[in-house]
Amino acid sequence: MKETYTLAELRDWGAATAEEQPPLRLAVFGDPVAHSASPPMHNAALEKCAIAARYCRLHVHPEELAEALRLLPKQGFIGANCTIPHKAAALSLMDRVDDHALRIGVVNTVVVEGERLIGFNTDGPGLVRALRAEFGVDLRDLRVMVLGAGGGAGRAIAMQCGIEKCERLVLVNRTLDKARELAAELAPLFRGPRVFGPGERLESVPWEESVLRRQLEHTDLVINCTSVGMKSSDPSPLASAILQPHLMIYDTIYTARRTRLMLAADEAGARSANGLSMLLHQGALSFEIWFNREAPLAEMRAALLAQT
Ligand code: NAP
Repeated sequence: MKETYTLAELRDWGAATAEEQPPLRLAVFGDPVAHSASPPMHNAALEKCAIAARYCRLHVHPEELAEALRLLPKQGFIGANCTIPHKAAALSLMDRVDDHALRIGVVNTVVVEGERLIGFNTDGPGLVRALRAEFGVDLRDLRVMVLGAGGGAGRAIAMQCGIEKCERLVLVNRTLDKARELAAELAPLFRGPRVFGPGERLESVPWEESVLRRQLEHTDLVINCTSVGMKSSDPSPLASAILQPHLMIYDTIYTARRTRLMLAADEAGARSANGLSMLLHQGALSFEIWFNREAPLAEMRAALLAQT
């Protein structure tokens, strides 16, 4: 199997993959996509479940997405995942979108049903499962701070907090206007009778240490959705001095190691986890949607750890 395939190869899939056994019938569409850890994770699951199909990477440029998706039924695909930058564009290219994906406005999982394409989103539900596995908590019970509420991951996670109707949500972003815009969009989801202590249930605040310190006193879970920490030379997005022992810190960065933010949490005596579990559980949910059976989590996790 090649590292990545292209639209030109997808047009003539039989010829491009003639030698491949089991056949390539699932793919992740992205641009770039060479870094994606989804193929080893899903191939481990397919092998464990003795399903005669494999999962590959397809490098698809934005202007190619519509044609690439339309080719899936003709080329015998079971389904696909969409990653950066295709998740929002994929929504309008589906024949049907499930309610949850429609509310979030983003599709990351596609199912081929005859000639039709059905869109789902497993990122948010994947996070919910990851938090349960890592901390034994339910998102809906928590007061949450989302750091990086201006990017794609921050938006999806903040939306999930809204859908779950979590107790309180504080949106923080370097560029404050983006967090404000997101808060305005989310406001209808936070109107309601559930009130937890003083203060607004939904706020957007500037990234200033004194403001964050005050907010953290009324926060249970901090979710880092910034890209700060992706490079090993990056600092922690939050200094240990403003973290407190009661906090749970979830860093969405997926890696086998402890991130700088997790080390800062250790120093403050707070619990923490990295984004590997979110990646794992969104993948497991996609697998369950495609095959209507439980995903083999242990094999998928081992494949991810071997990659990162
Ligand atoms: P993105 O759309 O590019 O957003 C980047 C975010 O980081 C923005 O909010 C940006 O703020 C902020 N940011 C960047 N540099 C910063 C700095 N120096 N200081 C403060 N804030 C900064 O990226 P994305 O796709 O949302 O990904 C963000 C993170 O989520 C990545 O680390 C990625 O690995 C992770 N992620 C994890 C999973 C998983 O399954 N575990 C899935 C998806 C993404 P501005 O708006 O001010 O630019």
